[in-house]
Amino acid sequence: MGQACGLMGDGSKSTKVHHLVKAPENTPESVSIRESWDASKPVTVYKTPENLPDGTPCQAVTVILRTKGCAWWWKSGCTFCGYFNDVRDDVTSEDMFNQWEEAKRRTNNFEGCGMIKIYTSGTFFEDRENPPEWQEAVLRETHDMGLHLVIEAQAQMCTREKLAWVAERHPGCTVAIGLEAYDDTVLRFHANKGFSTKQWNRAVEYLRENDLRVKTYLLFKPPFMSEADALLHTSKWISEVAPLSDEVSINPMNIQKRTIVDRLFRNREYRPPWLWSLVEMITTSHDTITETDCRVIVHPTAGGKIRGSHNCGKCDADLVAAIERYSVSGQIGEFEGLNCDCKSSWHSEILSDSSLPTPLGSGNDRRGNRIDALRAP
Ligand code: SF4
Ligand SMILES: [Zn+2]
Repeated sequence: MGQACGLMGDGSKSTKVHHLVKAPENTPESVSIRESWDASKPVTVYKTPENLPDGTPCQAVTVILRTKGCAWWWKSGCTFCGYFNDVRDDVTSEDMFNQWEEAKRRTNNFEGCGMIKIYTSGTFFEDRENPPEWQEAVLRETHDMGLHLVIEAQAQMCTREKLAWVAERHPGCTVAIGLEAYDDTVLRFHANKGFSTKQWNRAVEYLRENDLRVKTYLLFKPPFMSEADALLHTSKWISEVAPLSDEVSINPMNIQKRTIVDRLFRNREYRPPWLWSLVEMITTSHDTITETDCRVIVHPTAGGKIRGSHNCGKCDADLVAAIERYSVSGQIGEFEGLNCDCKSSWHSEILSDSSLPTPLGSGNDRRGNRIDALRAP
């Protein structure tokens, strides 16, 4: 009887699986490391070459702020997202204004830039995450400065009312949504994304109603998915979401610290994507991409490194460079003449993924001693 009572619970609140899974990240030590930063300074501010919506090349400034972070993460969180490493729930409105002023100071009021990307590790216009008076000031100021603005949001936060509010303060800005996968099963069980494809479709409809631009991120190779399936599915998702978006950015998985995918990786149960898979995906999707007005870019963060998309180590730099050139030129010729001995290993992995019940997402990597890998921070 006592046993049965134990199984039924003792009436106290149940523990959710994600609390158990995330537990080590939330030990007092982890929290104190994570929160040791100065809340009046942004995480980083940097400039990169970009294209304006009409295709004109420009300089873009990226400002990553320290915020209260994504409401979804505090509740549950995506399996691959390490943004929580830069967030803290006691950030004040004054801190946010100070960070914004600091970003302007460091760049001399964004001198020489035509575009600004403002990343808040969550949804820019979510009032629980960022103070509305700060959102308003940033939207208006960037508009007055003539900068094209890119902000990020979760699909379910894109309500008709809030988007109208944003469009009134910064008409024509771009809202980037991390859709990751155009498949409800993958969203739910691989990404734990917190919204459905239906909610994303509705967000796109509301963005269009307000003449805002749609940028869509897709994630190449979420956890619990084989390399071959990632190739197959992502190529299909590109063809489905490109006609609905102004820009699609494909992010090959890179392992961010203290995430669920990091645990799988450290246990050798997950290998980040091969660069060959990205080339294959681009090559097979190229014709579909050129039929739409949508710009498709692939950005292999940490490309060539063990925690990012990688090959054998010898050919990585050439492939990463070709993928990056393709994102600018859109020319498939960028991949001509690329070859390496490791291409056959990649190919056999794809074949065995498609025909054998191989463990999902693991694969040949180029890491050294298994014990050292488990000890890695
Ligand atoms: S990926 Fe986006 S929605 Fe998911 S936890 Fe991170 S910030 Fe939140
Ligand atoms: Zn190689």
